Parts: sequence; C-alpha cells; structure tokens
Amino acid sequence: MVIDLLKSAHHPSELIAMLKIKMGGSVPHQYKEDLATLAKRLGDREFCYAALNKVSRSFAVVIQQLPAELRDPVCVFYLVLRGLDSVEDDMTYPAELRLPLLRNFHRKCYEEGWKLEGVGDSADYRALLANFDKVIRVFLGLDEAYRTVIADICKQMGNGMADYAERKVNTLEDYDHYCHYVAGLVGIGLSALFSASGLESEQLREDWELANSMGLMLQKTNIARDYYEDLNLGRTFWPRQIWGKYASRLEEFHAKPSSPESLACINEMVCNALQHVSNCILYLHRIRNRQVFRFCAIPQVMAMATLAKIYNNPNVFTEVVKIRKGIAAKMMLDTNDMERVRYYIEKFAREIQNKMSESDPNYALTRKRLNRIYEALDDVRFSPESVRARCVEELVLF
Ligand code: CA
Repeated sequence: MVIDLLKSAHHPSELIAMLKIKMGGSVPHQYKEDLATLAKRLGDREFCYAALNKVSRSFAVVIQQLPAELRDPVCVFYLVLRGLDSVEDDMTYPAELRLPLLRNFHRKCYEEGWKLEGVGDSADYRALLANFDKVIRVFLGLDEAYRTVIADICKQMGNGMADYAERKVNTLEDYDHYCHYVAGLVGIGLSALFSASGLESEQLREDWELANSMGLMLQKTNIARDYYEDLNLGRTFWPRQIWGKYASRLEEFHAKPSSPESLACINEMVCNALQHVSNCILYLHRIRNRQVFRFCAIPQVMAMATLAKIYNNPNVFTEVVKIRKGIAAKMMLDTNDMERVRYYIEKFAREIQNKMSESDPNYALTRKRLNRIYEALDDVRFSPESVRARCVEELVLF
C-alpha cells in the first residue's frame, strides 16, 4: 500500500481515490490463513467468497459492485470456471485423466460431494478443487435458470480447453477461437446471468457477439501484457501469425526489447485487441442497471488503460507492466456511466495515437481501429439510453 501511495505522490486525485477505496470498505476482507485451512472452518457460501478472494483479488473487488441477487450466481460461475481452469493448467495431471475431466466438468457440478485431491498448479487452486463439494452445494442451491447457464458455459469451455490441449495457437483465427473459449464464453455467460436475473433485457443474452467481444478485449489485453510472465513459465498465447513476422523465437524480444521488431510486435498485439473495443462500447451502452454497468465497465476501462501503457513499451519484454494502482482506484470510483466510459476510452485511445509512429508496419490499421472507436463513442453520445443509464438508481457503494 505504501509503495502504491508513493507512486501516485504527484497525482493527488489518485491518492484520494486509493484512500477512499481503502476507507470505504469496498476492499473485501483479506484472510491471513491459506484456503485449505479456511475450508475447515468456513461454511459453503463463506468458503466460496474466501476462495474468490484468494484466486482473484480483482474479481472479488468488482463482484461487490453487483446487485445482491447476482452476486452468488456470478461467484459460483467464476469458481466453476476457475476449477475447470485449474484442471487445464496442471500439466502434471496426466492427459488421459485431464482431458476427459475437462469435457465432463459440467456434469461434476451436479454431483453432490464431488471433489478432487492433489490437482491444481498452486496451493489455492488445489484447495479449491479439494473442497469443490462446497462450491457444488452452493451451485445446487441456485435458481435453475442460473444453473443452466453456468453448466452450459462450463461444458462449452471444457470442450474448447480439451481441444486446445492438443493444438497450438498459430493463426489469428486460432487466437480468436481460443480467446472465445477461455474468455468470450465468460462474457456470454455473464450476459445470460444478467438476463436471467430480469435486471437486463433478454436481448442482452441474444447479442452474444457483443458479449464475446467484451471477453476478447480483456483476454487479449492480458495476453499481450503477460509476455514476460508467460515466457518464464515456458508458454505463450501470442499467435505465431503475429510474432513470427518479427522473430524466429519468442526469446528474441526479451533479448532486444527496444528493437524496431520487438516494438512492432507488441504494437500489433495491441492493435489486434483494439478491434474489439467498438463492440464493447455498444455492449456497455445496452446495460440498464447501474451496478451491472459498473461491474462490466470497470474492467474494460482498466484494460484500455493497460493497452495504452503497453503500446510501444519495451518494458513489456523484461517485466510485467501494470497501470498505477492510483489510476486503477480512480477509475474504479468514478466509472459510473457511459459518459465516464467515453472519457476514459477516448483518453487512452489518444494516448496510443500520440505514441504511434508512421514507421510502424501496422500504423494504418491501428489508425483505422482507433477511428472506429471514436465513431462508436460518438454514436452512443447523445442517445436516450446513455442518459437513462445515468439516472438509474444511485449507487450505495461508498
Ligand atoms: Ca488456463
């Protein structure tokens, strides 16, 4: 916390935002004990929220933004997919057991008492799977409309993961396809949960392409940012069709982070993610409930900030580049309506534009995609929906 405050020392509004979040109680309780220990003393529902806290701090924060009736379904949805992901990521778990489990994980959600010992590539993931019976009991207590959505997305994602365990991400098509399975489906599932709650229209779940774009934007931003972390883990999700133009081995970028090839490569990764932003703007524009809006919009503006930060940034190849916590805190506090989304997306799009150079091989395409973003922002500017979204019930968060 102190280090984060120092980083924002010259930005007083960021300092205020960080303190407000800290004092306002919107940071969820942090447990000192590990998840395996917590599992012994916590009830099923408490365990689910503790697990969420351990496996994704940022998601645990944004889930608190949701209307109360959506919190449990979204929490369980996330944990089911995290359980699935823990199976996918544990390469020490033999493929002949792993792949069928990925394909059948959705059935396990209905098997009372099911759990799995010793699988998962971190202590928290192992504890999640070892206590999965708790997640299942909460799942079984949800309304059927929610259970159906969660199990259906889990089935599609598990099958996609099993397919990709046997092939690599090479082409741009593979990249979109893979991101659809691991993230687009999350967006599609969340939309279906929102519609099922009655808080959002039925149309929201039918526009699955817009929801898919929401997931792709976030996933591609993380993939672009995490080059160095993934390199150290001996893996990559960067499509060869992009990086293969600039190097014959991925390590070359790390060796020469400031070379024109390295910078052109990270810029093309950013450019690829930018193609989804205009759809995200349209999706956010359709959200009616103010809290659902915040839940969806905050990660998007953070991702846009990250894209602006990593564009043309050689540090991506030698460290994991993150946006200042102060900026994140400010966006978390004031991303309340479409006007604010417009402000942030435009601000970061301009930052990218200012960093662009005509010598970049994707200069024209990146310009085109930025222009599409500006057009989408203009389209949603003065429409009645954006005014309505602002008027829907006041937030009682802080
Ligand atoms: Ca994974």
